[in-house]
Amino acid sequence: MQAHDILHSRQLTKTPCRSEMLRVLITKRIALSEEEIRDSLLVDFDRATIYRTLRTFVEMNIIHRVLLSPTEVKYAITNPVKEHAGRPGHAHFRCETCTRVFCLGTLAVDESRVPEGFEIKEVEIVLNGICDQCKE
Ligand SMILES: [Zn+2]
Ligand SMILES: [Zn+2]
Repeated sequence: MQAHDILHSRQLTKTPCRSEMLRVLITKRIALSEEEIRDSLLVDFDRATIYRTLRTFVEMNIIHRVLLSPTEVKYAITNPVKEHAGRPGHAHFRCETCTRVFCLGTLAVDESRVPEGFEIKEVEIVLNGICDQCKE
């Protein structure tokens, strides 16, 4: 999966900021905060451009938000094959040791447990534990 393929398939203009941010999210393979993305960029873009680009990517489901706490948001690339983001039960794994956040995709959620008349808008499942690398 290449940055320019993603932009092309969504008919988005290829800008240096879009390409570079996608490159970071693709190569890191984990969910990143806005700050972590900024720190990994090879070129300095202004914050407004980065913020706008993140918003565009989320709106187009190129990336998805991972809400770890009300004040902690990370972003992960959406797997175009699995088309998992936004579906109920999308889960993430946070390593307690290295604090990296991994995208697990869809996890079964028993929606029948939701009371009658309740409407699910978003499902955020975060599993906390230790990743394989830290466990070694
Ligand atoms: Zn770890
Ligand atoms: Zn995810």
